[in-house]
Amino acid sequence: MAPRIPGPPAVTIAEHTGQSAMQSVDGYLSDVLAAIRPLAPRELGLDEADGGVLTEDVTAGQALPPFDNSGMDGYAVVAADVAAATPERPVTLPVRGEVAAGDTGRHEVAPGTCIKIMTGALLPAGADAVVPVEWTDGGAAGGQVSIARPAEPGNAIRRAGGDAVAGDVLLTAGTRLGPVQLGLLAAAGHGTVTVRPRPRITVISTGNELAEPGQPVSPGQIWESNSRMLAAAARQAGYPARRHPVVPDRKAAVLAALEGALADADLLVTTGGVSMGGEHDVVKAALHDLGTVSFRKVAMQPGMPQGFGVVGTAGTPIFTLPGNPVSAYVSFQLFVRPAASVLQDLPPQRLASGRATLAGPVRSPRHRRSFLRGILDRAAGTVAPVTGQASHQLASLARANALIVVTESVTELPEGSDVEVLMLP
Ligand code: AMP
Ligand code: MG
Repeated sequence: MAPRIPGPPAVTIAEHTGQSAMQSVDGYLSDVLAAIRPLAPRELGLDEADGGVLTEDVTAGQALPPFDNSGMDGYAVVAADVAAATPERPVTLPVRGEVAAGDTGRHEVAPGTCIKIMTGALLPAGADAVVPVEWTDGGAAGGQVSIARPAEPGNAIRRAGGDAVAGDVLLTAGTRLGPVQLGLLAAAGHGTVTVRPRPRITVISTGNELAEPGQPVSPGQIWESNSRMLAAAARQAGYPARRHPVVPDRKAAVLAALEGALADADLLVTTGGVSMGGEHDVVKAALHDLGTVSFRKVAMQPGMPQGFGVVGTAGTPIFTLPGNPVSAYVSFQLFVRPAASVLQDLPPQRLASGRATLAGPVRSPRHRRSFLRGILDRAAGTVAPVTGQASHQLASLARANALIVVTESVTELPEGSDVEVLMLP
C-alpha cells in the first residue's frame, strides 16, 4: 500500500486555469514566493548556526576586549620612567616578572621597574605603557632590560571596551551569519544564537531509465545526472544538500521516498515524471491526490512543466522539476534558489543580470520566454549563443556561463541585438 504523506490544507498558490493555459515565468515565481513560509527560528550552537539568519539583535554582554591588555610583545612600564630614553642613553630597568596571554594572576609594576609582557596578556597594575621588544635589547644581560626609545602613555595598550562596550548591538536581526559574524559572536562569548537555519535541501530523481554513474548501462538506460547537479547547485547557493537514491517510476516508490526525505529536509526537489506523458508521469500522479501541489505549464523554454506546493506536517515546500537536465538546472536557478532564501526570510536570491550584445542570431518560440545558453565575454560585452540548445544537451550547458533571455513577444533576434543575460553561478 502506498504510504500517505500528511499534507496541510492546500497552499494559496493559484491553480492554473486549464490544460492549454500557460502561466508567465514572473507570475509563477511570485506565486511560489508568496506561498513560502519562513522556517521557525531555532537556538543553535555556533557551528550549526553557520549561514543562519538572526531573528533578533545580538548585543555585547560585556566589554570587548574585556580587560586592558598588551597589543605587542615587550615590557610593561611606567611611561614616565622611559621618557628620556634614547639609543645613545638607554634607560635600564629591572625586569620583575613575566606575564603571558592567559595568565590570570595579579601583577604590579612598581615605579622604576618593568614586567615582560606578551601580546594579549592582562596589563599589570601600575603600568601605563608597553615598550615593544624591538625598542629594547630584549633583556640580553638578564634580570634587566635596556630601553632605547620613550613610550607614550597608552602605547601598545588595548583598552577594555575598545571594540565594543557592554550593551552595544553587535549584529542586527536579519543578518546572515558568515565567517566574520560567527567570529564576532564567538569573540563576544555567545555559545548559541537564535537563527532561521539554512534550509536543508534534498533532491530526488525519478525514472526507470536512470543508472548510477560508474555502473554499466544497457540500451534504453542513461546515467543519472540531475540529482548530483542540483544538490551541488544547492550547496553552491549556500545550502546543505543531499541526493536521494534514484526512485523508480512507481507511485508508491515516489511517495515512500518523499516521506523518508521529509524527515530531514526543509525543501524538496524532484526531477522527472511531470510531463504530459500520462501514467509514466509518476511524480505528478503521486502528488496529485494530496491536493497541496499544483502542476502548471510555465511559458518558458527550457522547463515548461513545473509543479510546486507543500507537503508533510511542517508544510515543506516541494518543487517538481522537469527531468531533462537543462530544464531541471534552469528551473532550479530561476525558482528554487530564490525560494530557498525566502525560507530564511531573506530577499529572493536571483541570478545576477546584465546586458550584452548578441554575437550570433537566436530564435525563440512565440509566447515563451527563452533562456538560451551563451558564452558571455564580459570585457567585450558580447554573448555568443552555444550550439546545441535542446534541453537534454548538458554538454552545451557546461560550456555556457550565462543564459540569454529572449522575451515572450520575440521569436528571433539578429546578431548585434542588445539582450538581457543572466550570469550562471
Ligand atoms: P521526464 O521528465 O521524466 O519525462 O524526463 C524527461 C527526459 O529527461 C527523459 O529523456 C529522461 O530520461 C531525462 N531525465 C529524467 N531524469 C533524469 C535524470 N535524473 N538524469 C538525467 N536525465 C534525466
Ligand atoms: Mg521520467
